[in-house]
Amino acid sequence: MLKNHNNNTKLLLDISNEGRRAFTLPECDVPSQEITDKDNLISNINLPEVSQLDLVRYFTNLSQKNFSIDTNFYPLGSCTMKYNPKVNDQIASLDGFSGIHPYQPQETVQGAIELLYDLQKLLGKVTGLEGVSLSPLAGAQGEYSGLLIARMFHESNGDSKRNIALVPDSAHGTNPASAKMAGLEVVTVKSDEEGNIDIENLKELANEKTAVFMITIPSTLGIFEPNILEITKIIHENGGLVYADGANLNALLGLVKLSDLGVDICHSNLHKTFSTPHGGGGPGSGPVMVNSKLKKFLPYPVAEKNNNDYNLIKPENSIGTINGFYGSFLIAVRAYSYIRSLGKNGIKSISENAIINANYIQSQLKDFYEVFSDRYCMHETVISAKKQKKNGISALDIAKRLLDYGVHAPTMYFPLIVEEALMIEPTESETKETLDNFISIMLKIHDEVTNSPEVVKNAPHNVFHKRLDEALAARNPILKWKK
Ligand SMILES: *Cc1c(COP(=O)(O)O)cnc(C)c1O
Repeated sequence: MLKNHNNNTKLLLDISNEGRRAFTLPECDVPSQEITDKDNLISNINLPEVSQLDLVRYFTNLSQKNFSIDTNFYPLGSCTMKYNPKVNDQIASLDGFSGIHPYQPQETVQGAIELLYDLQKLLGKVTGLEGVSLSPLAGAQGEYSGLLIARMFHESNGDSKRNIALVPDSAHGTNPASAKMAGLEVVTVKSDEEGNIDIENLKELANEKTAVFMITIPSTLGIFEPNILEITKIIHENGGLVYADGANLNALLGLVKLSDLGVDICHSNLHKTFSTPHGGGGPGSGPVMVNSKLKKFLPYPVAEKNNNDYNLIKPENSIGTINGFYGSFLIAVRAYSYIRSLGKNGIKSISENAIINANYIQSQLKDFYEVFSDRYCMHETVISAKKQKKNGISALDIAKRLLDYGVHAPTMYFPLIVEEALMIEPTESETKETLDNFISIMLKIHDEVTNSPEVVKNAPHNVFHKRLDEALAARNPILKWKK
């Protein structure tokens, strides 16, 4: 069980003692200045006055009320919340990377531009799509850029009637949203009972108005689309482009190149697969990758090499800039360091281990929980609490009960096409012992569902906060300290 020995809820103000300080400032060695704009001064703000040790304990205790991958198992599917090796953070915090300014002349930051150039090359190799812009700040922005590129491509061919994005019903929610923002009309393609694209439906829908077909690979059900080659062929025969949502490349690295599947454009989330933590709203990085015929439309800046000089350039028919400066530079540094430290074989073993780990869990749970698909899964497996529902226990209850056992809840109720879904992604970093522990917890919960359902129904019991009103917390977050 998760130990919860630190239930210290005292606020700093409660332990405040007038005159106590957590710091000493050095003697002032510059002349003191009168403050002229006194109207904007606030007095009596009643800040806590505490010792340094109390301050350290306060924030350390606060941090431990949170769940984190550094303390516990975090099987969050569809989002690859994996462990990020610390060395990549250390490298990103080197002065030469973290201390440079975006307005510095390019000749003074040649090393930084070289890194961007090399990372573009590496991502081009991983996906087989050699045109890369690191500019997008999130997966969704990568999608948006990719879709604008598709539009520009058709327009430049005098083919501006093409205004439809075909999007499967199993797609990640950002896909139809990005298509709409890029000025395309979204038409939904059905999935069959096995979670594959319904080919007959796709054939009916693909036509001279198809601008792009968007497919999440691996699908949000954690499975590989077996008919992918036929699908991309149908789209190409109808003059459309194929967009792959490669936000989670954890199952494909070193094993499958998206270009070999007939993909023309994709994005990938450096803040999922390539060693930047995510969650809590950022920062992110969602590079967009395209094949050679689409390169000239990429958003700028793109890093280029001329002899021994590195430059940031604007591609010939660029869709423009999609944000300020160069994208999330320090995330690019982490991704570069991650790929280089692993090397070609290391990169491949990430996907192999991620896939084996997910399948191991699937095989051990399938007699107790309904598994969406009996096929081998990729980096994540989708199980359902349908059986447990008969005892009045929902996916939400199980997710909450996991917290009591020191495991973060998996993604729940997604993908939408699976009832009572729990989407589990162990990632490549976990040992077999951790997976076995998780499996035994899931089986214990399964027992509790039959023998003591109330315990599960009222979970969590051992965490600082019990069940929250999650909708209210998201709609009306209170982020400011109030007196
Ligand atoms: C996370 C994710 C996205 C969106 O990425 P953001 O950086 O959150 O915009 C898109 N598609 C898939 C499959 C994802 O998992």
